[in-house]
Amino acid sequence: MIDLKQNEVWFVTGSQHLYGPKTLEQVAEHSREMAAFLGASTHIPTQVVFKPVLTTPEAIRNLCLEANSAKNCIGLITWMHTFSPAKMWIAGLNLLNKPFLHLHTQYNREIPWSEIDMNFMNLNQAAHGDREFGFIGSRLRLSRKVIVGFWRDEDVQASIGVWTRAASAWADSQSGKIARFGDNMRDVAVTEGDKVEAQIRFGYDVYGYGVGDLVKVVNQASDVEIDKLVQQYLEEYDVAAELRPGGERNSSLREGARIEIGIRNFLDAGNFKAFTTTFEDLHGLAQLPGMAVQRLMRDGYGFGAEGDWKTSALVRAMKVMAAGLKGGVSFMEDYTYHFATSGDKVLGAHMLEICESIASTKPRLDILPLSIGGKADPVRLIFDANTGPAIGASIMDMGQRFRMVANVVDVVPTDQPLPKLPVARALWLPRPNLKVAAAAWIYAGGAHHTSFSYSLSAEHLRDFAEMAGIEFLLIDEKTSVEDFKDKLRWNDLYYHLSKGL
Ligand code: MN
Repeated sequence: MIDLKQNEVWFVTGSQHLYGPKTLEQVAEHSREMAAFLGASTHIPTQVVFKPVLTTPEAIRNLCLEANSAKNCIGLITWMHTFSPAKMWIAGLNLLNKPFLHLHTQYNREIPWSEIDMNFMNLNQAAHGDREFGFIGSRLRLSRKVIVGFWRDEDVQASIGVWTRAASAWADSQSGKIARFGDNMRDVAVTEGDKVEAQIRFGYDVYGYGVGDLVKVVNQASDVEIDKLVQQYLEEYDVAAELRPGGERNSSLREGARIEIGIRNFLDAGNFKAFTTTFEDLHGLAQLPGMAVQRLMRDGYGFGAEGDWKTSALVRAMKVMAAGLKGGVSFMEDYTYHFATSGDKVLGAHMLEICESIASTKPRLDILPLSIGGKADPVRLIFDANTGPAIGASIMDMGQRFRMVANVVDVVPTDQPLPKLPVARALWLPRPNLKVAAAAWIYAGGAHHTSFSYSLSAEHLRDFAEMAGIEFLLIDEKTSVEDFKDKLRWNDLYYHLSKGL
């Protein structure tokens, strides 16, 4: 469903005519080689497309206009091999509406000590050429990512790769459509927000539907389709005996399959990339969609429960960023605590809807009662999540702006088996510890819902927030509550002033 290879990042080198055609030919040759190298890097999931060296304001402006209208172009990598007077870049950069990365590198790794002459110096002058370019980016107050280092180095390739993933999610968000079945869970505050502002800021559009619109499509699922899907469940999961064909509750499994087919068809027909449901509005659906949501998330759809469209959009964005990486991304909720001398832990789960992509073993497909919602028992996938480092992030509407807050955590095995817990779950130690992480999270107004990923780092989220022009707050091993509170106060001032009128 998500294919990052169709996305293009354009490799754009700036120069000028001062050095003569021979030098410019060398600049072009080097840039072509670098673009090809980065395009072939395993760290970079998109294409890297070489563009002719830019030497005039007209060429720069035209390139930026071309990038704006090129559907597959998700951003530019810019680099000044030589000196490119930055007044030439004002018109183009003012028009550019795609993200850009400033790669501060040099074609030659080392100084050829015994050979170096003024020709070499004139060709390899990114050390000051890129500073001139950096000035105009700062003077124009443009969001961009600056990466410094030799272009063949792994860490430089990795950092470019992170940015291309964030830019892919950003491009995806511009055409994002979210289907919202039912409204918000009544009286809940943090899952609400300004959908018009969200569309202006992130690009995605939230479409509201009555659950009856979905029920109609669910009821259209044929017996043949249901038979086929049930067969898939039997192959993919450890299915409870009573749910199997001939079992006492096989009809509940078939009902779960019907719901999955219906939601999938609805989303596909409307070209939706994400969706929300709410257990308070399920009229006409026999069960709360559990397994269906888990499987749709696995296939790349964003999801938020209780009408949480912001988290649904974030899960989708993080699914795009994580495409092809190990680990997985899921909707998540901080559910309950384990206070212990060995470290305070969070048990994360939801009523049902945790994505299968983070499962550590083959999920068990079972049917159990749901204590709220007043519907038939829902089928669901139950598993322990992977262990290892992960990151949870949420976006809140703070009234004047959107804020993203993220916490780096370490997922650990559960202390003991959880034989009676009927939902998928993850147990983690927040960094630096629960006391600091939860206090900072609460001061920031962080939501109880998150998008939770083992594939992504804070750098992915920071790059994405930078593209969206939203606030980004990280809670990790370096966080102190007092410094964090200061940051919140300063950010309030900054975002108030930077917005202007
Ligand atoms: Mn919830």
